[in-house]
Amino acid sequence: MRYSLVFGKTRREAPKDEVAVNAQLLIRGGFIDKLMAGSWTLLPLGLLVINKINNIIREELNKTGANEMLMPLLHPRDVWDKSGRWSNKDVQQIMYQFKDIHEKEFGLSFTHEEIVMYILSKFIQSYKDLPVKVYHFSTKFRNEPRAKSGILRGREFMMNDLYSAHVSKKNMMQYYEEVKKTYMKLFKRIGLDVVVTEASGGVFTKEYSHEFQVFSEVGEDEIIYCPGGDFAQNTEISSVAEGKQCDLGHGPLKKARSIEVGNIFPLGTKYSKDMKVFYKDEKGQEQPIWLASYGIGPTRVMGTLVEMYHDDRGIVWPKSVAPFHCHLVAITRDTTHVTRMANDVYEKLQSAGIDVLFDDRTDVSAGEKFADADLVGIPVRLVVSEKTGDKIEWKGRKDKDTEFLTPDDVLKRLT
Ligand code: ATP
Ligand code: MG
Repeated sequence: MRYSLVFGKTRREAPKDEVAVNAQLLIRGGFIDKLMAGSWTLLPLGLLVINKINNIIREELNKTGANEMLMPLLHPRDVWDKSGRWSNKDVQQIMYQFKDIHEKEFGLSFTHEEIVMYILSKFIQSYKDLPVKVYHFSTKFRNEPRAKSGILRGREFMMNDLYSAHVSKKNMMQYYEEVKKTYMKLFKRIGLDVVVTEASGGVFTKEYSHEFQVFSEVGEDEIIYCPGGDFAQNTEISSVAEGKQCDLGHGPLKKARSIEVGNIFPLGTKYSKDMKVFYKDEKGQEQPIWLASYGIGPTRVMGTLVEMYHDDRGIVWPKSVAPFHCHLVAITRDTTHVTRMANDVYEKLQSAGIDVLFDDRTDVSAGEKFADADLVGIPVRLVVSEKTGDKIEWKGRKDKDTEFLTPDDVLKRLT
């Protein structure tokens, strides 16, 4: 893509009231724009990153046999009355609920367990129709009182939520463990080291849940964990003391701040029983459905990546989620052979299937282009200028030194 055509260019300064590093860099880089506290537009570059994150999630969930679909966000009250959650005080703290001009009540989705159960009630007759594993990517609305951590906490944000329905606890737990492993794998592909942490079930279940936490000073959570990796609990629920010896002898337990990027819930039969959605077993008898739900916040993941991977010049995207593979910069005041060469390189890379951001602007200085490349944070910077002759200058975003390569060598390295 030609940078001259990209909507949402870089900015030298972030708005003064923006304290979170993730928001500052994402705004300055032209990835997001703020509508109001906790509400963000994903500009074209930001959407490219989110799409990369979502594709990794999609690929890994599909391997477990899950299906993608898309559910509505505007929910009628009666479906939520079936589980009793419409009137739950804790739910009412976070769910936007309102009446339309006909006095009919609606809520904006903050989660989809009720809607999934409603759909299952129409599609599940017998044990032969189970298991079901469905997910979607869509907006969630939550009346968040503390929308202050930049894009980490939105009042409107993107979620990937997966729901699985089973005939028995055993089957549910088997799939739950598979998804736990899948989450570990997909977070690794995205570039995040996560700690699986025992936590409460919040407004979803009285049972426990498992959170996927990333160590970070800016995180709003605190976990207590064994450095050997065999124990971690959210301090919200933990009764063990810091400094206590780990059971497996990996040294004393430690406390640290962290960001929750995912959360999975073995919900059990509560929703099935409350909403009276059953399946018939081999003997034709009605049995409750075992439900589990699983959620990841791609927009929070994007913010977390920026918190983890940046320096004083800008963002340093991991390869797997960078908006482009490489950033081609043409340094030239007047057209001639430098422009021609840069255009050639751009075409060549494009036809080899490499995502290139081509800074083809003619009214911007070399210094500004380099500063922009560092801010936007694409893993490889390529420069074509008077000085590079028939070679291309190559520099990794994290590298100090540059190298001069032939166009063919550049192609080889990028494919
Ligand atoms: P938190 O404790 O941070 O408020 P939560 O436990 O309420 O989050 P879940 O219901 O577990 O959130 O949602 C699943 C995932 O959705 C979270 O792990 C997180 O990645 C993302 N998420 C939740 N709330 C927000 C939010 N307000 N803004 C952005 N992402 C969010
Ligand atoms: Mg959670």
